[in-house]
Amino acid sequence: MQYTPTIGLEIHAELKTRTKMFCDSRNDPDEREPNVHICPVCLAHPGTLPVINKEAVHHVLRVGAAVRGVIADYTEFDRKNYFYPDIPKGYQISQYTYPLVSNGELAGVALTRIHLEEDTARSSHLPTHAGDRKSGTTRIDYNRAGIPLMELVTEPVVTSAEQAGRFARELQLLLRTLGASDANMEKGEMRVEANISISKDKTFGTKVEVKNINSFRAVERAIQYEVARQIEVLESGGEIVQETRGWDEAKQRTFSQRIKEGSADYRYFPDPDLPKLMLSDIPEFREDALIASLPELPWEKRERYQSIYGLDSESAEMLVRDRRYSEVFEESVRELGDKNEIAQIVANYLTSDVAGLENAGKGELENSTSSFSELMKMVIEGEISSRGAKDILAKLLIGGGSARAIAEAEGLFQESDEGALSAIIDEVITENQAVVDEYTGGKESALQFLIGQGMKKSKGSANPALLQKLFKEKLQ
Ligand code: ADP
Ligand code: MG
Repeated sequence: MQYTPTIGLEIHAELKTRTKMFCDSRNDPDEREPNVHICPVCLAHPGTLPVINKEAVHHVLRVGAAVRGVIADYTEFDRKNYFYPDIPKGYQISQYTYPLVSNGELAGVALTRIHLEEDTARSSHLPTHAGDRKSGTTRIDYNRAGIPLMELVTEPVVTSAEQAGRFARELQLLLRTLGASDANMEKGEMRVEANISISKDKTFGTKVEVKNINSFRAVERAIQYEVARQIEVLESGGEIVQETRGWDEAKQRTFSQRIKEGSADYRYFPDPDLPKLMLSDIPEFREDALIASLPELPWEKRERYQSIYGLDSESAEMLVRDRRYSEVFEESVRELGDKNEIAQIVANYLTSDVAGLENAGKGELENSTSSFSELMKMVIEGEISSRGAKDILAKLLIGGGSARAIAEAEGLFQESDEGALSAIIDEVITENQAVVDEYTGGKESALQFLIGQGMKKSKGSANPALLQKLFKEKLQ
């Protein structure tokens, strides 16, 4: 009998706001200097009072509207009590009974809730070195303390590591599309925790929570590892302990961190320093206003690219994943006409040529944006060959400039002057009479040879489509 994995995800994302969740200190995730964006409120000095950041609430509610969740009418903030040096108040302000959003669905996964809380400070534990006075100590940077943090919890309905990875990627894309978070996992702006259990029947097994996952790849690897570990424990007659485990990236395995505390240990209670919120009383927080504020969502864009432009799902995905690509794609298609073949050519140049050059570290699309559609126009109208277009693209991505000027300077324009080509064709015909006879005798493929000779004579500058047309006319 096979074991089925059951996975529920808890994902935190740092929100992009001007200031922190409950005070005026700046929310600057790129600050390198420790402890500069701090104030008496986020340092928890006695007598200070928190004030709710409306921008942060708005971000979470828009995410809620995008996943078609239920937007709370009434909501409040709670204190989650525990001690740790990264949490100066001795509690974290979070939400317990009344999250901002309930239900909803993303990437086919049912959501439980989305709530808002504050981030903790960042601790760095210095390794122990004999003879070094500072070694083995911990340093704390409170710049991060109090940054608005969204927490999204899914139902235990994910059944594979791949599905969990797909979900996390889709959430990242949604957060970026909404401008709610940059959601870089490597920077800790988005953090995934996976709850994992296995079972042979429809009952739930004991779950283990895995933390410290720093990339999408690690989400998948950690779940695969943990499922295999749990199977091994059960198969050898052992029991799964409900615990929190960490993901060790170097060793590619999970390890036990602590036995999980239950929610009773946190003594949640409504924060008496903060007002209760009646969200429906605030015009921009009403569901219709939130929905009206949404941009085109990733899944809508995917659908549009496939149904309107006939793109295959892989190209559509690449464009949707990278806003720079989709913007350039749409601009070019708008200028060149939105016929499917044009859209496909533009998409191909972006997803194979531009992506290939960028991945190899050879320039950036940004450098070429002003003349990318000019280049596409030259390709589509047959002014340059696809080989020539690739050469121009490589130059544009590094140094920018005008596609037309580069084609001129490099002699990449195809000869489209019928008079000039006609002379070449006459020469080819006289020099290859035997092949010409084959063609006129019915051997269609002989034409390719003649076109090849014409290209050679023009030193590659002839427009092959035009050569073909002229050969056909002359040999009628
Ligand atoms: P806790 O109180 O231990 O934090 P929750 O009920 O809040 O547990 O659930 C936390 C996460 O664990 C959710 O994402 C949920 O989907 C997931 N989860 C709950 N039960 C299981 C299970 N048996 N196996 C895997 N994940 C589970
Ligand atoms: Mg929980």
